[in-house]
Amino acid sequence: MTNVLKKPKPPRAASSHGLVLPLGTLKALQKRGIYCAPGVSLEHQHLARRYVLRGVESGGAVSDMGRACAFVAENGSPLPWLQSIHSIAVNGRHAILLAESMVRIEMLRSERTWELAITFHTLSRVPERARPQIVSRSLFRGRDGVLSVDLWKEEHRALRGRLAPIFYSRAGEALTYPPSFEDAIRKTTAAACCIGCKHTHVGVPPTVVNHEQGTTSMTDPNQVAVTVGEPNWAPLECAVPAKELENFMYMGCAGEIELYKHRFTRRYLNIGRNSERFYRYLNGDYVEISRAAALEHVRS
Ligand SMILES: [Zn+2]
Repeated sequence: MTNVLKKPKPPRAASSHGLVLPLGTLKALQKRGIYCAPGVSLEHQHLARRYVLRGVESGGAVSDMGRACAFVAENGSPLPWLQSIHSIAVNGRHAILLAESMVRIEMLRSERTWELAITFHTLSRVPERARPQIVSRSLFRGRDGVLSVDLWKEEHRALRGRLAPIFYSRAGEALTYPPSFEDAIRKTTAAACCIGCKHTHVGVPPTVVNHEQGTTSMTDPNQVAVTVGEPNWAPLECAVPAKELENFMYMGCAGEIELYKHRFTRRYLNIGRNSERFYRYLNGDYVEISRAAALEHVRS
């Protein structure tokens, strides 16, 4: 007698409930050089002895198409990235994010028509096993959404991050997003309209400013807001010898002050953008210090 038992189905991939794109769409994205990595993977941190989820903020746009994928916390607040990725290539990977649970926002734009999938991913303990499972749940799915403003055009750049497409139910009623994710959806919309994208639109730097300040996080309202855009290396190049440049990472700017972090000392060198001024972050503010003091601080 033949064995008619079916093989057990493999567990659903972590990308379950996300956007499942037809081959033609994937090819069109590939042809345009837009690379998005929406997968959520399970990773083990050996030192911390814990498992975490890993997601990659990625994507970008050309004029007729865009795709972007971003990750936020369960409450919609931005996640700090582990590492931002600076590469020559555009419309690719921008930052790596790790957390025990995360919400993925995935968008596709074909001209003015949009797709959106919001999914929640978390770890679930498996009895008698150290390795947990990834559990995924769909929070929102919007199809054939519309946004009448051509956000990818330069003249509408100022509106990026303020608008999001509208999705309708099959019965023609506008669907409402989960409110806590509205901000992240608008930012991901901007990412899918960002031609030649090289930035992180949703993830935030790991510690806003100083490790030496102890507990600083992006959500602390007392902090000076840090924005991360194109790296500006010029102030650093004027301040340190060429052979030391590779020791620094660009972390963003706080107003007119550019922030660089030393890879080894983990300290910051903060330099005025259009000046030869140096700053130390103290008690939530940037205080001007001498060049010598700034360099001594960051190197020690
Ligand atoms: Zn961008």
